[in-house]
Amino acid sequence: MAIRQIRKSGDEILKKRCKEVKIFDEKLGILLDDMYETMTKAEGVGLAAPQVGILKRVVVIDVGSGRIELINPEIIETDGEQEGAEGCLSFPGLYGTVKRPNYVKVKAQDRTGKSFIAEGEELLARAFCHECDHLDGHVFTELVTEYLK
Ligand code: ZN
Repeated sequence: MAIRQIRKSGDEILKKRCKEVKIFDEKLGILLDDMYETMTKAEGVGLAAPQVGILKRVVVIDVGSGRIELINPEIIETDGEQEGAEGCLSFPGLYGTVKRPNYVKVKAQDRTGKSFIAEGEELLARAFCHECDHLDGHVFTELVTEYLK
């Protein structure tokens, strides 16, 4: 495993749309392992592939309840609403209030290509939304209603 460089605010790659993953090979596994190591070292709870310079629909999340890997994720259901502080490893030190659904259901594939459904509430629901946004070139600052100090 290796630590990859996290792309920061201002990097054009963060504004680009990612491509669907079609090949589930060893290289994808290495990317996922590297992303997880990079995220945990940076003390983040989620990381999307464009944040390490790769324009592929790949996400890793760990909000404290274990590692979740999402390939080609798609939000298929949301419910409720939550308002809370959000940050991003690509925007160090920046936190703002963002409104998100309180419950999110995601359809995705695992590293072998097998489809599965993941559900989350509160922080996990927030992470699903935040990371899926990255795959379409969107960042949380577009949604901030108030910046926090
Ligand atoms: Zn982010």
